[in-house]
Amino acid sequence: MRIILMGPPGAGKGTQAVFIAEKLGIPHISTGDIFRANVSQGTSLGVEAKKFMDAGEYVPDSVTNAMVADRLSQADAQKGFLLDGYPRTLDQINELDKVLTAAGVAVEKVIELTVDIDAVVPRLQKRAAEQNRVDDTEDVIRRRLEVYAEQTAPLTDVYAKRGLLVQVDGFGEISEVTKRILSVLGI
Ligand code: AMP
Repeated sequence: MRIILMGPPGAGKGTQAVFIAEKLGIPHISTGDIFRANVSQGTSLGVEAKKFMDAGEYVPDSVTNAMVADRLSQADAQKGFLLDGYPRTLDQINELDKVLTAAGVAVEKVIELTVDIDAVVPRLQKRAAEQNRVDDTEDVIRRRLEVYAEQTAPLTDVYAKRGLLVQVDGFGEISEVTKRILSVLGI
């Protein structure tokens, strides 16, 4: 299966994506995780991405798209994938369409995890304390939520028009939310 998981920062995308991808036996591809791995390894991609991540801004599309195209070309992604945190801009949607069309495949479902924005701020602050993420300080959290609302939330319409979008309530126990997602996937 080829699935996209969308939702604002702090909606629990990463946590859910791990369970769902494991259940389906497909790779979990998180652009945020790939960027963070590059930052901690000090690669040139990581050095470039860090400037944007630390400010709560999106890494430029050219950089992000090239990284995802490369990841999707790897052997494990041929049987399907769960994309977490990508696409986040219209340019990224177009690039993903191009890559998948060239491979003769398509996305089957786009799941949007919906949450009350007031609930995600304390969640992100808690994670900041636990994981020491520099992009989880209060100002940066606010900026990340703004950027999501401006640039990414409207994109769910694109997938709704294609009949691919399903909204899932992201509020509640982790295992409950997982069940809801599996149920919309017909599992
Ligand atoms: P995440 O863990 O998915 O919230 O991503 C953390 C940070 O990585 C984001 O705030 C962005 O700076 C960067 N990032 C992750 N995915 C993307 C993307 N698809 N496009 C641009 N920047 C991204």
